[in-house]
Amino acid sequence: MPIDMQNKHINRPNKILPELTSVFGLRPLLFDENLPYGTTRIKDGYSSWYAIPINDNASEFVLIDGGMDKTASKLDIFMASRALRNDSVKAVLLTHVHSDHVGVLHKLQKNVPVFVSKPDSKVLLGSAISEGLIPRMLDKLTRRRHSAVSGVNPTIISHDQEISLGSLHIRAIMMSGHTTGSVAYLVRRGDKEQPSILFVGDALDFKKDGSVANANWLFTADNASSARSIVDTTDLIVSRGIPVSVVVPSHSGHGDFSALQAFRLSK
Ligand SMILES: [Zn+2]
Repeated sequence: MPIDMQNKHINRPNKILPELTSVFGLRPLLFDENLPYGTTRIKDGYSSWYAIPINDNASEFVLIDGGMDKTASKLDIFMASRALRNDSVKAVLLTHVHSDHVGVLHKLQKNVPVFVSKPDSKVLLGSAISEGLIPRMLDKLTRRRHSAVSGVNPTIISHDQEISLGSLHIRAIMMSGHTTGSVAYLVRRGDKEQPSILFVGDALDFKKDGSVANANWLFTADNASSARSIVDTTDLIVSRGIPVSVVVPSHSGHGDFSALQAFRLSK
């Protein structure tokens, strides 16, 4: 099956949850985008997550986040559409711990490393309450830690840490604010001249006109820190001369790094 047909199959419109991007004036999440390095965007309710092949033959993958559907039906469809085996997922990189980003974790094999920052690992393990106005309220009202996942053994990742998986080179950048331990990931294949994808989770979105929208305040722990982290991340990437091909958030369509530079100049 051609890749675009596979993606269409995985990303059939969700009939239960509304498409929130248009409500918030954001770029819609599309499923037929050609993201670099064979990356697949998996739309899962009002969230999305990503599968990136770690080698050219696309038989092994790293996941950026894990969606919101605890039945992991989208993961099953993705694996089936590519005739992948159960052990094809080699690692999960969490941008942060909110319940709409950790859905499939409990379904993965126990030896799959789940990378997460130290502050957010506490939420994942259930020893700290969810952060952000609505997630926190939901946890309190229901007396349940909705972002916690049992049976996960987190691997702590810190600022500027590099990970190599197959031919992928991944660099973690702390973007504290949306949650205390939010992380963005620069992902590239090949040498340093190759452009990176910047996965930002919920640290920012893109508006319909392609400009940067701050993290959604209803779900964000510290809005001022979150806006500052966009500036700091942009500065870091520019100062190191890292080429970025595309910036990929979880709740809106992707955008250009130049939009982050424009955001930075407006501050
Ligand atoms: Zn979030």
